[in-house]
Amino acid sequence: HSEDRVFNFAAGPAILPENVLKKAQSELYNYRGSGMSVMEMSHRGKEFLSIIQKAESDLRALLEIPDEYAVLFLQGGATTQFAAIPLNLCTPDDPVDFLVTGSWGDKAFKEAQKYSQPKLIWSGKPEKYTKIPSFEDLEQTPDAKYLHICANETIHGVEFKNYPTPKNATGLLVADMSSNFCSKPVDVSKFGVIYAGAQKNVGPSGVTIVIIRKDLIGNAQKTTPVMLDYKIHAENNSLYNTPPCFGIYMCGLVFEDLLEQGGLKEVEKKNKKKAEILYNAIDESNGFFRCPVEKSVRSLMNVPFTLEKSELEAEFVKEAAKEKMVQLKGHRSVGGMRASIYNAMPLAGVETLVAFMKDFQARHA
Ligand code: PLP
Repeated sequence: HSEDRVFNFAAGPAILPENVLKKAQSELYNYRGSGMSVMEMSHRGKEFLSIIQKAESDLRALLEIPDEYAVLFLQGGATTQFAAIPLNLCTPDDPVDFLVTGSWGDKAFKEAQKYSQPKLIWSGKPEKYTKIPSFEDLEQTPDAKYLHICANETIHGVEFKNYPTPKNATGLLVADMSSNFCSKPVDVSKFGVIYAGAQKNVGPSGVTIVIIRKDLIGNAQKTTPVMLDYKIHAENNSLYNTPPCFGIYMCGLVFEDLLEQGGLKEVEKKNKKKAEILYNAIDESNGFFRCPVEKSVRSLMNVPFTLEKSELEAEFVKEAAKEKMVQLKGHRSVGGMRASIYNAMPLAGVETLVAFMKDFQARHA
C-alpha cells in the first residue's frame, strides 16, 4: 500500500488494485505502441477488439462461465438492468417472484412493476433487512418467469451464502451481483441471468456486465428500447453502439490481476480473512460496536456497524479520516458506519481499521 494513498472504505465507486492503476497509467498515453490512448481508439479497430475479447475470455476463465452463456458489456448501471430484465424475459402480464433482502432488491422489484407482474414473496423490511429467510418456507409462484434476488445487499450488508432453487415453470434464478461480483467463485449454471455494475470489484463505473443464458435472448417486449435488448448486444458482441471502451479495458486489467492472484478461490480466501478480522473486532467489543446483520448472512464485502454510544459516530468517522481511512459513514438510509472491503482493499487496510477501532474504544469506553 503506497503512502500517498488512503484506505478507501467507500461502497462505490470503489478502489481498484494499485498495480492495476499503475499499469493503466503506464499505458494511458500510448497504448502498447499504438500511438494513442485506449480512450481515443476506434472501438472497431484491432487493438480494441483484442482488449474486449481478452476481457471476456478472462472473465469466462475466472467464473468458469459455460459456453451456453453470453457475456455482455453494457452501459447504464445495474439500475438499467432492473428494467431490461423484465423487458427481455417477460410479457407485461407475466408474474415474476422477488425475494427482497435489502433496498437494492426493493428498487429492482419496484422497477419490474412497470414491465411485468412482480410478486414480493418475502421481504426483510420489517426486520430492517438483517436476514435471509429459510428457502423451504418460501411460497413461490408456479408460473413466475423467474425468481430475482440481490446476491449481496450493499447498504444492509446481507449476502446469500447459498441460493434458493426456483420453483417455477422456467426454473430461472436471476441475480444482481453488483457488489459481490468476482469476490468468490459462483456456479453460473445455477442462474438464468447474473448482472453487475462494475464499480465495486472490477472496474470504473460506466460498465455493466450481464451474463445470460443464450436461449433466454431474443424475446424482448416490442417496446423495448434498442439499447436494452439483449439480442442486439449479443448479436453485435457488445459493439452495437460505442461501448464504454476505457472502462472495459480497465475491467480487463482487473480480470488479468484476479487470474494472476490465483483465481476466485484465492480471492475468496483473502476476502473471508479480511471480513473475519473485522466482524470479530465488532463482536468482541462488548457491545461498543454492533453489527445488526444475522451472523450466517453477513456480507464479505460491506460491513455495516453502529456504536453503542451513537453520539460518537461522527467523531469516529472524522478521526478515522484523519488517519487516512475514508468513507466510513453509513448509508444515509441506515446511519451508523459501513466499511466496504471489496477485493482491492488490502488486508493492511482492515488491520489498520481494527487497530483504530480498539484504540477508539479504549479512549471512549
Ligand atoms: N445493485 C446493487 C447491489 C448496488 O450496490 C448498486 C449500486 O450501488 C446498484 C444495484 C445500482 O447500480 P448502478 O449505480 O450501477 O445503477
